[in-house]
Amino acid sequence: MGPGPCNPYPEVIEAMGRPLLGHLDPEFIALLDETNERLRTVFRTTNPLTFPVSGTGSAGMEAAFVNVVRPGDAVVVGVNGVFGERMCDVAQRCGADVVRVEAEWGRALDPQALIDAHPSPAVIAVVHAETSTGVRNDVACLHTGHEDALVLVDCVTSLGGIPVEIDGWQVDLAYSGTQKCLGVPPGLAPLTVSERARGRIVERPSSWYLDLNMIARYVGGDGARAYHHTAPISAIYGLHAGLGALLDEGLEESWARHRSCGEALQAGLEDLGLTLFAQEGHRLPELTSVWVPTERLRDGMDEAAARRALLERYGIEVGGGLGAYAGRVWRIGCMGHTARPRNVMLLLAALEELLEV
Ligand code: PLP
Repeated sequence: MGPGPCNPYPEVIEAMGRPLLGHLDPEFIALLDETNERLRTVFRTTNPLTFPVSGTGSAGMEAAFVNVVRPGDAVVVGVNGVFGERMCDVAQRCGADVVRVEAEWGRALDPQALIDAHPSPAVIAVVHAETSTGVRNDVACLHTGHEDALVLVDCVTSLGGIPVEIDGWQVDLAYSGTQKCLGVPPGLAPLTVSERARGRIVERPSSWYLDLNMIARYVGGDGARAYHHTAPISAIYGLHAGLGALLDEGLEESWARHRSCGEALQAGLEDLGLTLFAQEGHRLPELTSVWVPTERLRDGMDEAAARRALLERYGIEVGGGLGAYAGRVWRIGCMGHTARPRNVMLLLAALEELLEV
């Protein structure tokens, strides 16, 4: 139940062990096309340029920024956790004039403050699900403020777990990671780019590897395959299978499963007398943050010893707090194939054993 690489769907592991095809084998290309189509369904978009970037979630973040940000562009970034900070760093390296809009860690960003932060931003960028705090930021209305601004959203921890509506919310660039609610090992970053954003792609992005002008000619979306890229075949088999499992269940059913597990976990923690960290009304079901009950840990255990006991005795990984909340907050992932009532019950029972009543 850690916030990182999860317990993948069994179908994914089976698919990743299949014999390799060549990266230009028509059978593999058909599977890649189908993977991209499945990603469109999960992102809820018709964007032709939708594909898994060969790299982890951060490669998706970098691909989104380097392709549309020009030196001197005003880029508004919402910051209420580690991954908003990372966005600022990436945007700065593209030469952007970064305008930070902050909220306290554990609290949601104010969408109107993001819209009002600059009179003519080139990009407004927000992390939808802040994994460092367990907070959901609202992104649905960000397109309403400025006709020319591109809306760029980090969906690493939201895709597949809570509603994401790329076309409905008029998001221009969004990326995710495979290892969270998609239930697939880490290594790929699903990315989707609107036609509007495609029209604004920098001629020579500062990253050669992530240059969408070239990659688009391999991943298709418009038929041509004129650029050479050796796609990570087994990882794409895994993503294809994970998306298949997700869509067989149903996207909305997956959202509902994450919601009911997250609610049960959060209610159970409160029943044990623990205090949730994230702002009510903005709590992610797939990532629960909770204040460490330091005073109540049995046998004088500190928080690291308690997390070690959960891992060694029960096979449950709980993430530690980040930044100023290291040692003070726990982060409990309940994502993808892991979001099952039995895992919630096991964690609550295990925690009960570690706590003085
Ligand atoms: N964005 C968010 C919200 C994340 O949670 C993470 C990783 O946990 C990343 C970006 C970076 O992804 P990766 O670690 O796969 O590079």
